[in-house]
Amino acid sequence: MKTTRRQAIRTAITSGSIAFLKFTPLAWADNKRHALYGKFHVRCPNKHVDIVTDGTKQHKCEKCGKQCFVDQKVTLVCPAQHDNIVDLSGVDVLKTYKCKHKEADKVCNKECQGW
Ligand SMILES: [Zn+2]
Ligand SMILES: [Zn+2]
Repeated sequence: MKTTRRQAIRTAITSGSIAFLKFTPLAWADNKRHALYGKFHVRCPNKHVDIVTDGTKQHKCEKCGKQCFVDQKVTLVCPAQHDNIVDLSGVDVLKTYKCKHKEADKVCNKECQGW
């Protein structure tokens, strides 16, 4: 008697897939604070004037509740009641601002901070 044996070789391939979840942190290139620092008179969108003190980047009008900082812009009021729309988008902390109001070719130039 002859016995023929066949051997079957089985190769088991184990394949695994690994999913990598990557959370790429956004490079916060713009690390400016866009804030006022000091005592400023700010005008709300409804034309009320409020006083802000210390460091501020948000201020709700005390009379109507409107946000005074809109699109990183804020309206500062100088001691002579001129409005200055100040863009804080490129500003870290604004500590001083000279009024830019022009009247008869003369710039007001009053300090808006601290009055
Ligand atoms: Zn208001
Ligand atoms: Zn002025």
